[in-house]
Amino acid sequence: MATYETEAVVLRAIRYGEADSVLALLTLERGRLSAIAKGARRATSRLGGRLQPGVRAHLGLHEGRGDMATVRSASVVEPHAGLWAAGHRLRAAGCVLESALRALPEREPNAGAYHLVARALDLLAAAPPAPGPPRLHPLVLGAQAKLIVVAGLLPRLGACASCEAGPPLTAFSPAAGGALCPRCAGLGEPVAPAALAAMAGLVARPLAEADAACPGPATPDVERLVGLVLREHLGVVLRSAAPL
Ligand SMILES: [Zn+2]
Repeated sequence: MATYETEAVVLRAIRYGEADSVLALLTLERGRLSAIAKGARRATSRLGGRLQPGVRAHLGLHEGRGDMATVRSASVVEPHAGLWAAGHRLRAAGCVLESALRALPEREPNAGAYHLVARALDLLAAAPPAPGPPRLHPLVLGAQAKLIVVAGLLPRLGACASCEAGPPLTAFSPAAGGALCPRCAGLGEPVAPAALAAMAGLVARPLAEADAACPGPATPDVERLVGLVLREHLGVVLRSAAPL
């Protein structure tokens, strides 16, 4: 049993009972974990209704005997109010939060992943509308591509994962380790070289440059590559990847 303080991003909040919320948190100190915020939905709660998805807060957490921590105190560090000002931002942020929820293992501290998710929310909270569905927003794909890397699922993108040959790379296989040259293409499935280049650009460049790294026509293919990596390593299918 221990009480500690940590910064956290709320990934998901589910109503529980009359006034409680069960939160999925990405904490800086202890990675992803679940916590109950008792009475959080009462108007008079000190925790208030503030702990909603996308909010970054400083939390006091208590670990008891169960799997779930208890939120003892909360002060919002960054509410990301801009997310609620536009539906497209909120939906795009939802895609990023869901990826973190599914791709990051429970209770494995990962400061890189934490700062990445926080940065993605900062940018999305001020993002102008982009063409296409929110799940194909370059910031969403950039955050997901980088998340794969910080989660240790790094696909090889700049050279053939099987024989080390350089570009052109024309296929992709997460099981083989990433991109494949035409000679090794039979190991994977065909993919446009532009999509591999876009994904490599998203990984290599700052998140704020996601728009430039990933031209619009490449976005569906990049989403597919991210999905292939997650499915191979985690058996995860992102709900947000389903057609809207
Ligand atoms: Zn090869």
